[in-house]
Amino acid sequence: MSDAETHSAPLDAESFRRHGYALIDWIAQYRESLPTRSVQHTTTPGAIRERLPATAPEQGESFETVLRDLDAIVMPGIVHWQHPGWFAYFPANSSYESILGELASAGLGVQGMLWSTSPACTELETHVLDWLVHALGLPAQFLSTGSGGGVLQDTASSAALVALVAARERATNFASDARGLSDTQARLTAYTSDQAHSSIEKSMRIAGLGKEALRIIPSDASGAMRTDLLHERMASDRASGLQCAFVTATTGTTGINGFDDVRAIREVCRRHTHTQPLWLHVDAAMSGTAALCPEFRFVVDGAECADSWCFNPHKWMPVNFDCDAMFVANRSELVRALSVLPEYLRNSATESGSVIDYRDWQIPLGRRFRALKLWFVLRSWGLEGLRKMIREHVSMAQELAARIRASTHLHLVVEPKLNLIAIAHNDGDTSTEALMQRVNATGHSFVSHCRFAGSEQDRLVLRVSIGSLSTKREHIDLLWRELSLR
Ligand code: PLP
Repeated sequence: MSDAETHSAPLDAESFRRHGYALIDWIAQYRESLPTRSVQHTTTPGAIRERLPATAPEQGESFETVLRDLDAIVMPGIVHWQHPGWFAYFPANSSYESILGELASAGLGVQGMLWSTSPACTELETHVLDWLVHALGLPAQFLSTGSGGGVLQDTASSAALVALVAARERATNFASDARGLSDTQARLTAYTSDQAHSSIEKSMRIAGLGKEALRIIPSDASGAMRTDLLHERMASDRASGLQCAFVTATTGTTGINGFDDVRAIREVCRRHTHTQPLWLHVDAAMSGTAALCPEFRFVVDGAECADSWCFNPHKWMPVNFDCDAMFVANRSELVRALSVLPEYLRNSATESGSVIDYRDWQIPLGRRFRALKLWFVLRSWGLEGLRKMIREHVSMAQELAARIRASTHLHLVVEPKLNLIAIAHNDGDTSTEALMQRVNATGHSFVSHCRFAGSEQDRLVLRVSIGSLSTKREHIDLLWRELSLR
């Protein structure tokens, strides 16, 4: 009886090999087919569920059938994030090397919550993150060989939450050790700019500080936080008996890729230090990768002032989602804020105090071997290979920016520093919206939008984020053809 007719689970090693090779072929063919596909999905709400049975199958089905349905049912609902015409949101690069690293991690199937549950899972992660400190030009305070160190979180959102919890504990002298929500906690305030990612507000809600305690500081015309207004707000909060506990600076904002002045922010923070210095977190989610190139090191300017700093290799660096690299200057505060040790996790390595247990650096207990895919990518590409990719994207973006500057009907909302171009139509929002719809209807390019005020009237912005691994100049030319039509 053939495997196509019936299936006996679980797969044996031989069948796994056969289906595994077929799936790798499927992925490679999919990637090769991307330039000929439309970026957008071709489905309507509910259409995919309609094609799925109401209940799970009682009898196992053959793998061939499952793969067939991947094509027939799933693919129409896929937006092709790896497409060369992908200019929306941010790059979400999933290189072949990282896919293989992910596969190796799943194959090993280890849990790395403690050093002792798979020492290599912890040590490779610590080591590769130390590599990144050097590679990005980050300050030595983030090295594991000193008081700090790096950890892989799933996302920048989790990094922000973890940083906020540590800030809360520092500000309340580790109150959650005992009483939980306290009067002190109710007096804590946090600060970020109106360009910061929405995950900061979400973290405030999850960490129990509340959305209202987050002070949204207006940004200037370049998208940077107004530090004069930060100072004013902190001064008035302190005068009201509140305690400034947490600031998030963003280096490479989501909307228009603005850069906060981290050093100036730290200077303001120093003037408003309560009994404990407030925690400064830097979110460099997309742009952090650019710091691999010495000429773009402005991305890490002021990192020495930060208690924590994070970026997403799962955006512009070609490591598939999820992979956020977070660095802290003082790991003991983070560990104290998040550590709980039940009897069943006790072990002699932990008790010796000589190992890192990453469960104390994150929200969940369990953790997978994320460092493998990062290691695979860093080793196969080499830093020079990554720099070449970044420089290519930035130069394509700068060439597009030059075309916009010379345009009679479009303008740049801000001067682009890296790979994200923020464009508006001279005739206003309605024309910007129409242009965006026209571009996205072509199927060969996909752009997204934001609103940005800066020092002017709030306006709609068409964002072109250039960073897909497969994007070449011909794809920028195609996009430009649409943008330049009046
Ligand atoms: N921070 C910034 C500046 C971003 O641009 C994004 C983008 O989505 C995020 C955070 C959220 O990243 P994640 O999905 O890793 O939480």
